[in-house]
Amino acid sequence: MALMNGDRYRESLKDGRQVFINGERVDDVTTHPAIKPMVDTMARLYDLQHDERYKDVFGFVDEEGELCSRVYKSPDTIDDLRNRREMTAAILNEVSPVIDRFGDETVTPLFVMKDRKELLDQYDVRYYKNAMNWLKKLQKKNWFLTSGNTDPKGDRSKQPYQQDDLDMYTRVVEEREDGIVIRGAKFETGACYAHAAFVKPTVGAWVPQNADYAVAFIVPLNAPNLRHICRAPHYESPNGFDKPLSSRFDEIDTLIVFDDVLIPWENVIFSRKPELAALIRQDLHNWASQGFLNRAYAKADTLVGTALLVTQHTGLSDVPAIREKVSKLMGYREAIRAFISASEAEHQISASGMVMPNLSIQNAGRVYASSNFFDMVQILRDLIGGTAVMQPDEAMLNSPATSADVKKYFRIGNVSAEERLRALNLANELTASSFAGRMCAYAMFAESPPMVQAMSLYNSYDRKGSLERAARLAGLSVQN
Ligand SMILES: Cc1cc2nc3c(=O)[nH]c(=O)nc-3n(C[C@H](O)[C@H](O)[C@H](O)COP(=O)(O)OP(=O)(O)OC[C@H]3O[C@@H](n4cnc5c(N)ncnc54)[C@H](O)[C@@H]3O)c2cc1C
Repeated sequence: MALMNGDRYRESLKDGRQVFINGERVDDVTTHPAIKPMVDTMARLYDLQHDERYKDVFGFVDEEGELCSRVYKSPDTIDDLRNRREMTAAILNEVSPVIDRFGDETVTPLFVMKDRKELLDQYDVRYYKNAMNWLKKLQKKNWFLTSGNTDPKGDRSKQPYQQDDLDMYTRVVEEREDGIVIRGAKFETGACYAHAAFVKPTVGAWVPQNADYAVAFIVPLNAPNLRHICRAPHYESPNGFDKPLSSRFDEIDTLIVFDDVLIPWENVIFSRKPELAALIRQDLHNWASQGFLNRAYAKADTLVGTALLVTQHTGLSDVPAIREKVSKLMGYREAIRAFISASEAEHQISASGMVMPNLSIQNAGRVYASSNFFDMVQILRDLIGGTAVMQPDEAMLNSPATSADVKKYFRIGNVSAEERLRALNLANELTASSFAGRMCAYAMFAESPPMVQAMSLYNSYDRKGSLERAARLAGLSVQN
């Protein structure tokens, strides 16, 4: 089967899925005003796969001689790891630097399963087989896979089994001959315009009492009894002049409700296995963070570019104090680039021989990129000034009643009012809009909460080396 294109992708979404937004059921996600823009964005990505320039970037020929999607190719060699980086960069360059969900990141926990065959087989030989069948199916079908890890969670001070409503975390209510029955809910970005979700356990203490919650499976997003409860859109208007980002790239986040959804055994990655839940949480980001850092780089580059654009317009680009601020944004971008390169150059080989980025460097990059994003947005906000929240819209620029005033007072030298407003609108959407607020929350939380990211760094860091250095200086012997 050839790789999917935009039209086939749109058609594939007309599958009876139960999507609700603004209190109403959506008949067709490909035409709903708040969802269509991201469907169109994903369709562009699918069409890009057929662009001659990107043939080898997006496709690879599998052992059966079939052209498959590289999004789902596991990193078995260093070339695979590099190719994944180049593919993600191509999407961010050609489709949008401010989108996050398009499958490359969400598939990576299946790579963790591939890496752990021996362990999975100890529990149930179907688990590894199911995971590998899905990997193959995704490669061939070229589906868009999303990721559901985060439950509503209820009282955060309590374990899943201690909640007053046991459905606050997604759980197995029954294991039957034909599959498992799932109840609960998960947050998922992009689910209402994706094909399937990989649902996995959340952060937690994997004690035996939580066994019903220790479940992972893949589910098509039109499954019976599965409902999409979408958040309110950031999309306000289709006007790309006034809203250059939210009119096109509002990646709808959804609470997926499982109202006793039957998952056939062939889609179960594991069921009621606390030790496997602990494993998937521990290794979840081994490959996912490569995609996160690539996205962080593209966003950082966008912040730098917007700062340069606006300060060129305001005539400040040669002022040293302004350049100093812009250089902080540049330093942020370059540091992320260095984390990406270094983690690839110093890659590690996993237990089963797969190629991973250097985890300590990559985890440090993840903490750095996510914990500094908000401060970088603040620098851009400082550079663009308050005008970026006070500008008139395109209708005012074009109205015979207001056009002359807008053109006179928003022009700066050779920069026309139209050019100035376009740059301000971009700056507004990056710093002051609800779209910007979501971007900051995404940077902080979407790769798990900051404390969990910090723990991943702590655990992957070579503590012994640092300890020995300090101990030697102090004249002490090292305690293990
Ligand atoms: C834009 C966006 C997109 C997202 N997309 C996805 C997605 O596609 N798929 C997905 O699965 N998830 C997604 N997430 C969810 C994300 O994984 C969660 O937001 C994250 O795991 C934090 O969970 P929470 O929001 O419930 O915060 P909380 O768990 O309520 O955490 C809030 C704060 O409390 C702290 N805290 C929580 N519990 C404890 C405790 N017991 N003891 C001490 N401190 C505690 C946390 O560290 C944090 O500082 C997305 C999030 C955002 C913002």
